[in-house]
Amino acid sequence: MPDRKVRVRFAPSPTGPLHIGGVRTALYNYLFAKKHDGDFILRIEDTDKNRYVPGAESYILETFDWCGLPFDEGIIEGGEYGPYRQSERKGVYEQYAVKLVEEGKAYYAFDTPEALEEMRKQQESSGSSLTGYNHQSRKEMRNSLTLPPEAVEQLLDEEAHYVIRIKIPEDEEIHVRDEIRQDLVFQSSTLDDKVIFKSDRLPTYHLANVVDDYLMKITHVIRGEEWLPSLPLHVLLYTFLGWEEDMPAFAHLPLILKPTGKGKLSKRDGEKMGFPVFPLEWMDPETGEVSSGYKQEGYFPEAFINLLVMLGWNPGTAQEIFSLDEMVEAFSLDRVGRSGARFDPDKARWFNHQYLAKKDDQELANEYARILRDKKIEAEPSYIEKVVGLIKERADFVRDFWDQSFFFFQAPQEYDQKIVKKRWKQDSPEILKDLFPILEKTAPWERDVLEKNVKAFIEYKELGMGRVMIPVRLCLVGSGMGPDLFTIMEMIGREGTLDRIKKGIHEIPGEN
Ligand code: GLU
Repeated sequence: MPDRKVRVRFAPSPTGPLHIGGVRTALYNYLFAKKHDGDFILRIEDTDKNRYVPGAESYILETFDWCGLPFDEGIIEGGEYGPYRQSERKGVYEQYAVKLVEEGKAYYAFDTPEALEEMRKQQESSGSSLTGYNHQSRKEMRNSLTLPPEAVEQLLDEEAHYVIRIKIPEDEEIHVRDEIRQDLVFQSSTLDDKVIFKSDRLPTYHLANVVDDYLMKITHVIRGEEWLPSLPLHVLLYTFLGWEEDMPAFAHLPLILKPTGKGKLSKRDGEKMGFPVFPLEWMDPETGEVSSGYKQEGYFPEAFINLLVMLGWNPGTAQEIFSLDEMVEAFSLDRVGRSGARFDPDKARWFNHQYLAKKDDQELANEYARILRDKKIEAEPSYIEKVVGLIKERADFVRDFWDQSFFFFQAPQEYDQKIVKKRWKQDSPEILKDLFPILEKTAPWERDVLEKNVKAFIEYKELGMGRVMIPVRLCLVGSGMGPDLFTIMEMIGREGTLDRIKKGIHEIPGEN
């Protein structure tokens, strides 16, 4: 590990909405930086104009605002090493590509698309295991390795169409160290001569990424496993550019896997199984297609971050709920696993439930009040708060509150037929009618008094609890669910209770 201030970066390309895997990468970077009193940097890698998607950059910014993961440097924050958008650094990269050519570590290639296609076909028909533009095929192509120097000069003077390719050594072992996967060895003979600088005079991802990591004094590159195959190339670039001493440490994070079966968690899995794979809702600017987001689905940002941290990292203890500060404290790369982390949508909801259950009732009541207002339901804030306190244990999201508590605000419109069939007996209306005078006389109208009186009635009539309480619940709630019935009675009041029982007696048998 280089002995300098820890500096890590999250380097997304604005090619669409961030997948939750990207947010997890950023989170691990953030935690690592904060744990080591380091800097967390946002760098936008937008040199590939063809893949640029409008709105993707602001989506990235909104995501981290929502998640509460602030950058120390970035396109908004600025910083000493800016600009932080690669498209604004266009002039930076060419000198490094040219330097590599001058030192014989890269070369100009003038091949036409047809010639490249021809090369591909020949490799295919000869059944060669080694394909692509590489240490063998480059000898047959039109580049500054095969052309005489004067011809190269002339082509460059004529501004002929060219790219710069790295010249991969023919037969070398490239040793790299990954903080998660330990020591890895790659054979240079299996790598191809990647383009590092394009005909539009812009660098490719590889060159821009390495140059910027160097110039921005990045000490640790923490990124997704899909970049592992690029690692030997990046290590070679550091070596070729003479930056070995400043090479960052690398850590490649495991994939997030589908809930079942093989492979990486995809947008389709989310659509099929009904959970988001993006932090925020996203509308595809071309197709207008809308994909759901954790925020809009009702996840709390703390719960979202918490469920993400557990996808690939484990604290080594049974603790699952972590505040951001606790995560910073507990996080280390050596507890990040190598194998993929399976995404479990039930577990994701469970995390939100844990946070919801711990939230302050008043705060939740404020959110719920908005939903009630949309439904044109008026209620005192203190009443809503009490309702929330009674039902939040049964909900995963604030949006579940209505289904769990509508009966505190209005009489049921229908009755659960399964319960009606099983528990609404022929004598139920009679029993309820007998209960009427007891309820009329109960004073004060309070939960404990209600319980005492109703129980005394049940005992006196020598009835089972269920014979009375289930029909009452059916009348008040419309089903067999809900919190303590005496509390519901107290909350909806004497009149509400009696009206609903009357309505039930009148309507329930009719549904049978
Ligand atoms: N721009 C790359 C991406 O979109 C960055 C990969 C890296 O972190 O090196 O994922």
